[in-house]
Amino acid sequence: MAAPGVAIRGQRSLLKQIREALASGGPAQARLDMVVRIIARSMVAEVCSLYMRRAAAGDLELFATEGLDPKAVHVTRLKPGEGLVGEIMRQGRPLNLADAPEHPAFSYRPETGEDPYHAFLGVPLLRGGRAIGVLVVQNRTARVYTEDEVEDLQIVAMVLAEMVASGELISQDELKGVELAPRRPERLKGSRFADGLAYGVAVLHEPPVAPSQLLSDDVAAEEARLKTAVAGLQTQIDQMLEGQAGLIEASFEVLETYRMFAHDRGWNRSLEDAVRNGLTAEAAVERVRSEHRARLGQARDPYLRERLHDLEDLNDRLLRHLAGDGHMARELPENAVLIARNLGPADLLEYDRTKLRGLLLEEGSAASHAAIVARALDIPCVGRLPGLRDLVSEGDPVIVDAETAEAYLRPRPDVVKAIQARIDVRAQRRAEFAKLRDTPAFTRDGAKVSLLMNAGLDVDLDILGETGAEGIGLFRTEFQFMVAEEMPRLDAQATLYGRVMDAAGDMPVTFRTLDLGGDKVLPYLEAEREDNPALGWRAIRMGLDRPALLRVQIRALITAAKGRPLRIMFPLVASVEEFRTARALVDHEVAWAQRRGRPAPSRLDVGAMIEAPSVIWHLDALLPMTDFVSVGTNDLMQYLFAADRGNPRVSDRYDPLSPPALRALEQIQRACAETGTPVSVCGEMAGRPLEAFTLVALGFEALSMPPAGVGPVKRMVLSCDREAARRGVSALLKSGAGSVRNEIETLARKIYLAV
Ligand code: PEP
Ligand code: MG
Repeated sequence: MAAPGVAIRGQRSLLKQIREALASGGPAQARLDMVVRIIARSMVAEVCSLYMRRAAAGDLELFATEGLDPKAVHVTRLKPGEGLVGEIMRQGRPLNLADAPEHPAFSYRPETGEDPYHAFLGVPLLRGGRAIGVLVVQNRTARVYTEDEVEDLQIVAMVLAEMVASGELISQDELKGVELAPRRPERLKGSRFADGLAYGVAVLHEPPVAPSQLLSDDVAAEEARLKTAVAGLQTQIDQMLEGQAGLIEASFEVLETYRMFAHDRGWNRSLEDAVRNGLTAEAAVERVRSEHRARLGQARDPYLRERLHDLEDLNDRLLRHLAGDGHMARELPENAVLIARNLGPADLLEYDRTKLRGLLLEEGSAASHAAIVARALDIPCVGRLPGLRDLVSEGDPVIVDAETAEAYLRPRPDVVKAIQARIDVRAQRRAEFAKLRDTPAFTRDGAKVSLLMNAGLDVDLDILGETGAEGIGLFRTEFQFMVAEEMPRLDAQATLYGRVMDAAGDMPVTFRTLDLGGDKVLPYLEAEREDNPALGWRAIRMGLDRPALLRVQIRALITAAKGRPLRIMFPLVASVEEFRTARALVDHEVAWAQRRGRPAPSRLDVGAMIEAPSVIWHLDALLPMTDFVSVGTNDLMQYLFAADRGNPRVSDRYDPLSPPALRALEQIQRACAETGTPVSVCGEMAGRPLEAFTLVALGFEALSMPPAGVGPVKRMVLSCDREAARRGVSALLKSGAGSVRNEIETLARKIYLAV
């Protein structure tokens, strides 16, 4: 007798037999019966049964069987989670048991006549990572199925899932009752990554492989395609690693892990096996991917979960190589809402921005690459939506409500109507702000407030003119590094800085030197795991420890300035010594350029960001060394309140509109006024009207904010009486309350109407 499982691996593979059976035509049920018969025979199993999930109650119904009583077909039903089959469905993972009746979840169904069967192997039919049914084989004698058999049955289940979905196996009438994809409206609560509202159709960043692309006719050709793609991937990763030599001392830990996986024999062998069994190269990648997910996805260990991310990324890269170009630019429908587990650097930028309305992420954080880019592109984004990918199918209507940090999947018409109305209101407001574009921002009592824009990518430059901002108050240079696959060299940096200065024309641009570390990690830069990254090796600390990196950047800035004025600012200065050393580096680079006959900036301003509380009590020493300062309230608040800004459990616990925060800000403003040091606020709070109102009341006259904030804040400034605001807010500084937000809101309403 043939060893169990060999049939699928032999010449006439199981998949081939199934395909031949299907080609013979006949009614759907007869074909389905034939398929379970073929599987039973090939697996040398006495029973093979297929259960599908019913849409109505989510019950699992027996759709076909070889070996159990045929009268049970379309009669036996299991509730979700009931019995072994329900358990497989719930977990989305195979169950391999030598003695099924011993299992606590075993549920005996007399109508099926299954008494004598002991060995049991069941696998889920997965579509887009979601179980839509279960395929089971059983044997009379107690035995454990081999790993190869489990693998074989999973491949068959994957193919069956797609065949069912495409209507090849189940009649159209039956298909209506089967839950192939989630249908109920869902409302998920997540975190706001980028503000705004959107209504559109779901586009999956990692779409499931189309059924037509699952099975191959020509194994040799598929093997060759796979080989070429894997070789391409390996070369790409090797090059990424080699590209890093020189500039910095990188440990390459992350890329090394990629390289290790890419060259991993086990991974390659699994892919080759799947192709040899009749799958296309793409289907093989999906197959191996779902196995990794099943294995590592349940892992609690953060290290293992990280590795799963690496593998996911590697699989995506391999699919791109199979698509032929290493890029994934896809045609988008109008009003696309992109759905992804998480996005890697640059992924978002590969999509057509004019059609992308919103972004929903299952994971990520507000400080993740995708979120940062989404904010820069003004694309509403909600993240940390558990189970998102399993609950949404390509083409589903979806709503991104970043105002309430929610996602609606297949929303009911009344929800759509309500959201449309809110979208219209936002659009009207935008149109009003656009009208204010050229109006200078003076308060009613004649105080000028400079409204500047935060930027970091060249896409932001298109918006600069539209917003009516008077310049760029914070250019986050690390964004270029974060969206690149490898360290941008001096000329690439200089090119970007030059473009920014060209686009800004006569308007000032403040370039902040690299603010990496903390939550901003680069795959190609040494990043030792730290217990407290926010308090760790980041920003200017990294720059001073790696002076070559900082020097290259300063050189690129001087080169790009070509004799124009230049403003440079250092992040997270925590001591005067740090600023002194950093400033000396700038002076050194200017002298170096001059020695080589290159033009020095016509005017050079070097500033510090006030983000570390320590310097608040040393401003008398720091300010005279600086040409200007800018308050980074995002970090300043995190350090003042000892609350990680990237951790949603604590980040919103404290209100910047509270006496301690406002007193700190007032102290900074007063010290700057006394020494005549220009000061701005460039944290996110500067872009929110009520917070901006408070900053104006405290005496700040320059605010730098995300582009979308400029209009609303200008409207606030135009209707604000600064003197009255100042009086009201200074009285609140003495309050004993934890937050004075409500009081400030009342005050603001008294002074002007549009908060
Ligand atoms: C800040 O901390 O307020 C700031 C503007 O810098 P970033 O958000 O980039 O840390
Ligand atoms: Mg900061």
